[in-house]
Amino acid sequence: MQEMKTALVTGAGRGIGSEIAKNLAESGFYVIVNYNGSRENAENVVNEIISSGGRAKALQCNVSDTDAVAKMTDDIKSEFGTIDVLVNNACRGNNGILSNLDYDGFDYVLSVGLKAPYELSRLCKDELIKNKGRIINIASSRAFQSEPDSEAYASAKGGIVALTHALAISLGPHVLVNCIAPGWINVSDYENYTETDKAAIPAGKVGNTKDISSMVMYLCNQDFITG
Ligand code: NAD
Repeated sequence: MQEMKTALVTGAGRGIGSEIAKNLAESGFYVIVNYNGSRENAENVVNEIISSGGRAKALQCNVSDTDAVAKMTDDIKSEFGTIDVLVNNACRGNNGILSNLDYDGFDYVLSVGLKAPYELSRLCKDELIKNKGRIINIASSRAFQSEPDSEAYASAKGGIVALTHALAISLGPHVLVNCIAPGWINVSDYENYTETDKAAIPAGKVGNTKDISSMVMYLCNQDFITG
């Protein structure tokens, strides 16, 4: 990869995405912190990165809006001239069939969690191919096992697993495409898990955001695993 590397992390204003953004910045990437909710959260992530000597910028964009996504990728290309890593992290949960989630509600979850990762991959593909870049998609254990009333989220996450291997075949060997399917990750300060909570997880603990961001860094820094 070239010297000035740029990473776009969607939904990076908080939670897992913010940790991924910080880790990428620590390893020298200029990080685009995409957000759609609180600007203050995104600015806090950017300020934390800058005060640790890194480089980052917050960019608002609702990734379910194709025009906004096109504008965001155009803006990144014209400002930085490169996109090296795309992390499709943004997602939103929703209920499902027991709550009578309607077509539009179902479609919105797919738009954020599945169609946007495809669209961003498509719009970034020339840059990623040129730079031998990486796409990292954040899936979920919900791709493989469900709770009741979670059809939309499960479908988005199952879809992104399949999208990952499809993109890996289409874009390889230039772009390595992988996904991470976290189980339960603590994105708050809450620590009081019951023994039953912990016992339900094979590792015996609820994960933290670093457990996921360190996997992202591993996938960025290797050149064999894809799909
Ligand atoms: P979170 O809700 O804190 O993060 C999701 C982020 O996506 C938020 O910043 C939100 O603003 C953003 N987002 C939502 N809709 C958006 C849109 N339309 N455009 C742009 N950004 C949008 O939750 P998190 O736990 O940090 O989740 C991050 C990723 O990890 C998600 O893909 C989630 O499904 C996945 N995941 C989380 C867990 C967990 O236990 N926390 C487990 C498995 C998978």
